[in-house]
Amino acid sequence: MIPVPEAERLNVIVIGAGVVGLSSALWLQRAGHQVRVIDRGPPLPGQPYTHACSFGNACTVALGACLPVAMPGVIAGVPKMLIDRKSPLALFWRDLPKLMPWLMSFLRSSTPLEVDRIVRVLGQLLRLAEAGNAPLMEEAGSIRLLQRNGSLYLYKSEQSFQAATNDMLLREREGVRMEVLDASAIREREPNLAPIYQRGLVFSDAYHIDTPYQYMLDLAQLFLARGGEFIRGEASSISRQNDDVSVQVDGTHHKADRLVVAGGAWSKRLAATVGDSIRLDTERGYHVLFPDAGHLLSAPTCYPEHGFYMTPLSEGLRVAGTVELGGLGQPPRPVRTNTISQVAKMLIPGLSRHDREWLGFRPSMPDSLPVIGPSPRDRRIIYAFGHGHIGLTLGGVTGYIVSDLISNRTPPIELDSLRPNRF
Ligand SMILES: Cc1cc2nc3c(=O)[nH]c(=O)nc-3n(C[C@H](O)[C@H](O)[C@H](O)COP(=O)(O)OP(=O)(O)OC[C@H]3O[C@@H](n4cnc5c(N)ncnc54)[C@H](O)[C@@H]3O)c2cc1C
Repeated sequence: MIPVPEAERLNVIVIGAGVVGLSSALWLQRAGHQVRVIDRGPPLPGQPYTHACSFGNACTVALGACLPVAMPGVIAGVPKMLIDRKSPLALFWRDLPKLMPWLMSFLRSSTPLEVDRIVRVLGQLLRLAEAGNAPLMEEAGSIRLLQRNGSLYLYKSEQSFQAATNDMLLREREGVRMEVLDASAIREREPNLAPIYQRGLVFSDAYHIDTPYQYMLDLAQLFLARGGEFIRGEASSISRQNDDVSVQVDGTHHKADRLVVAGGAWSKRLAATVGDSIRLDTERGYHVLFPDAGHLLSAPTCYPEHGFYMTPLSEGLRVAGTVELGGLGQPPRPVRTNTISQVAKMLIPGLSRHDREWLGFRPSMPDSLPVIGPSPRDRRIIYAFGHGHIGLTLGGVTGYIVSDLISNRTPPIELDSLRPNRF
């Protein structure tokens, strides 16, 4: 990226040191801007970072993940979700009234016409994902963390595989490379799996990062080495003046020419202080870690029926996923992690006990598209959040687009579908 002329270099504050905020900060630095990042706990060695969704995800750069969560027919699964506490989809009953606007928009996004449009937009973003990630990974020294073995989707029956035909056609249309496996090819590729799968789908371009936390540490070190500064604390509000915008952090106002809100699932509150109402909520997700079990699989393996991935890492086998609608304030529910652990043991008989349990907050828009664009109230404030299930994958390209917007350059894609006030 060619830096902007000296006179156009700006003082920028980014709120949020997750993958989206850090990638934005680094692309902004590449364009020549002076950048500070605010976070309640930035990823620095020896300091807690488990609050960030970027800490505990399934580690997969899922370049073929162009399908939204709200696919046609999603409504058929809702009754099961409401009664079965062990279903991969769950919600807190008492939150239902609060969730209604989000759920209604979610259902409206699931019509075939809408899904077709959303898949095209996700496809465009995903085709640019590597151009956004690779330069940062290289410069941060994170190439050492990448494991390029693709990823695998499993289907228990021929029938469930056939039911996914339309999904495959949509992926094919977006240029996603896939290879179909039969039961014996699955066994050859992953001999430690219980032999209960009839079909598999390999996404050959996918890869995983061992671990995303280490990647965040690398990005943070690169940011500091390029002259960036972290401000540790809770950003409580954003205010706008004629000459600048400012963020209040623990009683102190920090001023900047431009502001990027990349606070993940917490961004809705910050946008509200600007006067913007955004249909962002959280899809809570969990992971459990089976230590010393990373050798049992060769690549991230997804069980769509159970809603999780198993990802082999040097720290162990991370089993991550499921969706729970229940906001940011409720405590973790042990029934979710117990279920993930039990199912994982059924799928990989060699597993013993898990140790770490983690709850994370996916920042999710009802249509599975992120928000990337200026606040309708003030173009000096750029929103970059709502990446749902694929933020690790789209962090880099989002940062690239944020940097283009702040540098008055034309972004590589049309941003209308990603505007903050689309609902
Ligand atoms: C179980 C699970 C599995 C997943 N698997 C994958 C996967 O395999 N591949 C993939 O691409 N994606 C995956 N994801 C999604 C991905 O992890 C997220 O989309 C991504 O991490 C979001 O990044 P972010 O930077 O927007 O938010 P975060 O990582 O949550 O970062 C936001 C940061 O902002 C800070 N912050 C927010 N508000 C404030 C405030 N007011 N003051 C100070 N600091 C603030 C927070 O402390 C946090 O550090 C998964 C998610 C989950 C839960």
